[in-house]
Amino acid sequence: MFDDLKGKRVLVTGASQGIGLAAAVAFARQGARVGIGSRSVDANAREALARVRQWDPESEHFPGDLSETAECERLVEKFVARFGGIDVLVNNAGGLVGRKPLAEVDDPFFDQVIDLNARSAVMVTRCALPRLIASARSSGATSSVILVGSIAGYTGGGPGAGLYAASKAWLHTVQKNWVMAHTRDGVRFNVVAPGTVDTAFHADKNEAARASIGATIPMGRFGTAEEMAPSFLFLASHACSGYITGQIINVNGGQYMP
Ligand code: NAP
Repeated sequence: MFDDLKGKRVLVTGASQGIGLAAAVAFARQGARVGIGSRSVDANAREALARVRQWDPESEHFPGDLSETAECERLVEKFVARFGGIDVLVNNAGGLVGRKPLAEVDDPFFDQVIDLNARSAVMVTRCALPRLIASARSSGATSSVILVGSIAGYTGGGPGAGLYAASKAWLHTVQKNWVMAHTRDGVRFNVVAPGTVDTAFHADKNEAARASIGATIPMGRFGTAEEMAPSFLFLASHACSGYITGQIINVNGGQYMP
């Protein structure tokens, strides 16, 4: 079904665990050439690279703190030096940073949340754009940028997560401008918006909290990272989604229906 992903050069940020890792493995299983990013060089990153290399022996890990523009630039440069170009970019790095009610929001916290979730996606995309355009021109197929949004981008997020939620809504919106500007360059932009997915993101919740959240989801449970992955493949594949751009795929078990 995703045959055209074979040989595609795919960069997945935030792929040392969770949703990003599941997506990276899924791309590699399709025969794509996959680079994974993460902030840390740790056991997670080493295990993640080993898992992706089971399918793509030439996969590489590119560490860097994408809250900083210089690191975004370096990531794209290193990926291109290694793979010769970029066909698919998955901007997945992100997270809560912490929970602070409005009364406690200060400048450093504001900057951390926005830099991690919004600046990183903009800057990696900006740096990758010439390569994505070149990919579309040379292949005749569209190239694909996938942003990772969130159910929180619609609902406003959980306690103390207002800035995080707004940063995800910001991603839902900013792509619309890019669609207007770059569709004729052959680049598509779409969002995967997960619901509540069982990853380290929810490590702060005990069993009771997890059960009560699960009960609010029509599917009756959290999603898995692996259940997010096929949506990334679909949006990356020109054969499957070549006429789809500027959209949001909500993968949330029915938890929210916009
Ligand atoms: P996760 O398991 O915590 O993984 C986060 C990944 O992002 C890790 O690889 C992490 O690397 C990387 N990362 C974090 N800060 C970074 C930075 N400053 N620079 C570069 N990489 C960084 O989270 P997840 O649940 O898979 O979440 C993945 C994406 O889905 C995020 O954008 C999140 O907001 C979104 N999302 C998640 C859920 C959910 O319920 N899980 C719901 C909606 C949206 P290090 O470990 O090295 O820091």
